[in-house]
Amino acid sequence: MDLEEKAAVTSGSSFWRSTAVTGVPDIMLTDGPHGVRKAAPGGGILDSEPATCFPPAVALGSTWDPQLARRVGEALGDEARAMDVQVLLGPGINLKRSPLGGRNFEYFAEDPLLTGILATEWVKGLQSRGVGASLKHFAVNSQETDRMRVSADVDERTLREIYLRAFQRVVTQAKPWTVMCAYNRINGVLASQHRWLLTEVLRGEWGYEGLVVSDWGAVADRVEAVRAGLDLTMPGPDPDGDRRLVEAVRSGHLPESTLDTAVSRVSSLVQAALASRTDATYDKDEHHALAREVAGRGIVLLKNDGGVLPLGRHDGTIAVLGEFARTPRFQGGGSSQINPTRLDNALDEITALAEGPVTFASGYDDVDAAVALARDAAVAVVFAGTDRETEGADRESIDLPAAHVELIERVAAANPRTVVVLSNGAVLRTGPWDAAVPAIVEGWLLGQAGGGAIADVLFGRVNPSGRLTETIPLHLADHPSYLDFPGEAGHVRYGEGVHIGYRGFDARGQQVAYPFGHGLSYTTFEYGPATVTATDGGLSVRLSVTNTGDRDGREVVQAYVSLAGSRVRRAPRELKAFASVAIAAGETVEVELPIARDDLAYWDTRLSRWVVEGGTYQVEIGASSRDLRVSATATVTGDDARVPLTGESTIAEWLSDPRGAQALGEVFAALAGSGEAGVMAHTAADPEMLTLMGSLPLARLSVFAGEAFGPAAIEKLSASVN
Ligand code: BGC
Repeated sequence: MDLEEKAAVTSGSSFWRSTAVTGVPDIMLTDGPHGVRKAAPGGGILDSEPATCFPPAVALGSTWDPQLARRVGEALGDEARAMDVQVLLGPGINLKRSPLGGRNFEYFAEDPLLTGILATEWVKGLQSRGVGASLKHFAVNSQETDRMRVSADVDERTLREIYLRAFQRVVTQAKPWTVMCAYNRINGVLASQHRWLLTEVLRGEWGYEGLVVSDWGAVADRVEAVRAGLDLTMPGPDPDGDRRLVEAVRSGHLPESTLDTAVSRVSSLVQAALASRTDATYDKDEHHALAREVAGRGIVLLKNDGGVLPLGRHDGTIAVLGEFARTPRFQGGGSSQINPTRLDNALDEITALAEGPVTFASGYDDVDAAVALARDAAVAVVFAGTDRETEGADRESIDLPAAHVELIERVAAANPRTVVVLSNGAVLRTGPWDAAVPAIVEGWLLGQAGGGAIADVLFGRVNPSGRLTETIPLHLADHPSYLDFPGEAGHVRYGEGVHIGYRGFDARGQQVAYPFGHGLSYTTFEYGPATVTATDGGLSVRLSVTNTGDRDGREVVQAYVSLAGSRVRRAPRELKAFASVAIAAGETVEVELPIARDDLAYWDTRLSRWVVEGGTYQVEIGASSRDLRVSATATVTGDDARVPLTGESTIAEWLSDPRGAQALGEVFAALAGSGEAGVMAHTAADPEMLTLMGSLPLARLSVFAGEAFGPAAIEKLSASVN
């Protein structure tokens, strides 16, 4: 391969294909994530061949079920294979930092552990079919505003513990064939040129051996991107960039070996992809059925006062109100938009399941007709939601459109048995109408079979078990990200730090409308006492859960961990394990929730590494982050996390370290009685002096005691204690 070919193979040949050169054929990479969006021949950028539109990540995430995520990954792999696609551009695992995030529907959760566990299984499922994943968007791409330029300014602990954590898990546990860099900057540096991120962390620390592809159009400078560790620039062709790469190598500005590394990664990806290419077909009906199953499992029953739901099939007339029942909002806009093989709507599906009459009014522009139908019905089901959520734009509000609020309020006034079904990609405020209705069904964007899934839940054919992966605030202004989203003048400050989502609400003891992890069932569950045991691998949590109602159901058992008196500021509780468990009516099951020791670690910025702090950890287990039923503790032995003492360490830090205290004590003793230095000697013994002087870095003592704390003396002292 000559130099020109080497340059050419590191960018695409078209929108969706890599470049073929001597010895390296080309492959197809295409969106993703909740369906295969293969461009239709001769069509526009959003025209694609029909494929199953599975529930977007917002709904899949709400199942809290890694096995389901795996099955969806497998099904996507089968469709990709059948359509001769080698890499599917997903999953999207950025965190839902703000409810305004325009692509929240494409992401799983506001929590990195939940996101990482679900995405790991999704990737394993997809890749088990010989189709590569593209883990995106790496990293800190939690907004759409100014997405191609904005710098996400985030401190390192937050970056490691929150925004990189899910990537780390998926990379190390599922080995995605490709990782897609984000559009944005991270602390001032474009993700596509971020050597620390793409090479030091991703490959150096996490051992990643796959390929890094750019987001479409993310590369500003091919030479700097390749230098940073980016292998494949998409889309293409990019003859100017190729020429610049060639010139950079010829002039010695870029070592040829660096370009060779990128070339070999492209070549390995292509070889692996083509080696696993086989003819395949898939059964559209089966995939539609899977899409319905997942959608049903992702629906969250937010509220069900007085047991309005499930509806009886002979309950009398059901008034279905709101155009979304007939024209479903089933996916978001942008690159993830699928051309579905079929499209169910809730109105037809409700009609098919109901044994009594079903009436319908489109509602939003004709509220009077809807109210009249509601008045005559046994129950009114109002469909409401967001008009539009799309890649490329964040939302401006989390309120329902005014016309939908009016519809809900007037229907509820006409019929007290009013159920609201929501369609939205990121959470919506349920005020001011929440109190007016007895039941709310959070129906997200559910993919092509969502209509049937909604009917399944309304009639109790599916007992709801979906759980919120994003807190629903009472007001947007309560949200931890509120004052720092979406930023300005090219920067967005991640001011809430590690306190994203529920972590921030809990830290400030704030009320929310519906907490992270919340979701009701048509049955009830009781939690037995829990035990927590510390093991070499981490913690093992065990408890029994009983279905105390008369319907089979599923409980999502959640374990949150805290460490009182931690040396770093932590959220009051963090999700560390969960399990979605099927429990038949009247049955008891034993649930085991393993917590890996790694997941207890915090990122120590002084040591630049992960540290498990020793101490007594509390594990609270329950049905949501604010419905904690039982708890237990276990003592964990910490990692060695001694920070070396230096001249910049304060007197208090020296004195709180046993070796430091002894060594410093000796120096002070030797100085006793010698003027100001003698006063210093007194510091160690006098609490008031310690308060006054304790924050003084040791090296500054040279002002008082000269040589005794000069550079040579400090070096010697440090060497003796470290
Ligand atoms: C999106 C990616 C997508 C790519 C290709 C970009 O605009 O950010 O998620 O995979 O386009 O369509």
